[in-house]
Amino acid sequence: MTSPAVKRQRTENTTTRSEIWYDDGSVVLQAENTQFRVHWSILGQKSSFFRGMQSLPQPPHDQPTVDGCAVVELHDTVLDVEYLLKALYDSMFLLQKALPLPAVAALIRLGRKYEFRDFFDAAVERLCFENPTTLKKYDALRVDREYRPTRILPYPGVVYDILTLAREQNILSVLPCAYYRALITHDRAQLFDGVPRGDGTVASLASMDQRQCTLGRETIMKTQFMPGYTYAWVRKWPFKADDCANPSKCARIRAEIQEHYMITFNLRGLLDLSTEQIPFCGQCTKHARESNQAGRNRMWEELPRMFSLADWGELKNEL
Ligand SMILES: [Zn+2]
Repeated sequence: MTSPAVKRQRTENTTTRSEIWYDDGSVVLQAENTQFRVHWSILGQKSSFFRGMQSLPQPPHDQPTVDGCAVVELHDTVLDVEYLLKALYDSMFLLQKALPLPAVAALIRLGRKYEFRDFFDAAVERLCFENPTTLKKYDALRVDREYRPTRILPYPGVVYDILTLAREQNILSVLPCAYYRALITHDRAQLFDGVPRGDGTVASLASMDQRQCTLGRETIMKTQFMPGYTYAWVRKWPFKADDCANPSKCARIRAEIQEHYMITFNLRGLLDLSTEQIPFCGQCTKHARESNQAGRNRMWEELPRMFSLADWGELKNEL
């Protein structure tokens, strides 16, 4: 049996110094076995938690110190603390257009835990930008009909990882769009198998998210063809035949579209006809586009409900 004293000694021996080590620093933060020497004053500028901690009475003399600095043990990962300190000491870090998702995740987790309000808000803002609460903003993020994240560095599976982060951290306003993106970006097998990130690891969804996606998909599939929704114009032609320049041709095309979707069974709750080529006559094209736009507006309004979430106005992102 190793005695506690020997065990402590071993632990001390295995600590390593991070590159974030300021010789004039006044406090040493330790995460796992890595130590960071930083400044109380700089921590306190951004964090009400550390500001309050600094003003506490000095710890007893037998508390561990390194180079005369108090050691504050953090129960966080080294990577999270590194990203936090990068944001704190490198003024350009948060100004980058796209950040790695692990950095965004670290700033949300530690920003909330240690009350770095600005960092928390800036990181949540990136998730919200990628997963907006309005259809107009959602549409603006598509380039050539495709979505690619621009405020978070893209990689295979990033959509799953964003969803997991938002759900774990209660970034609620992000969830409707994040669930929808998870459904349209990857196929049904990937929902359960995950998506290889390309570095030997796999982006997987938790079982509760797999469930939410599966049930949400079913609800949207049923809803998208109902009157007043995205695909109503395919199922039931709401227009007068005498509006149409070529009724037999337009009816045939509509039947082909119906058949196509019966076979492919694709989820397209927010399909945007304004960017699709439809070979209807001019009047029918106009009617179909209007019906589609009204339908997708309604689908967007109800998107949270499709995933059993509260309405848009109630989905808050609090520190
Ligand atoms: Zn027509």
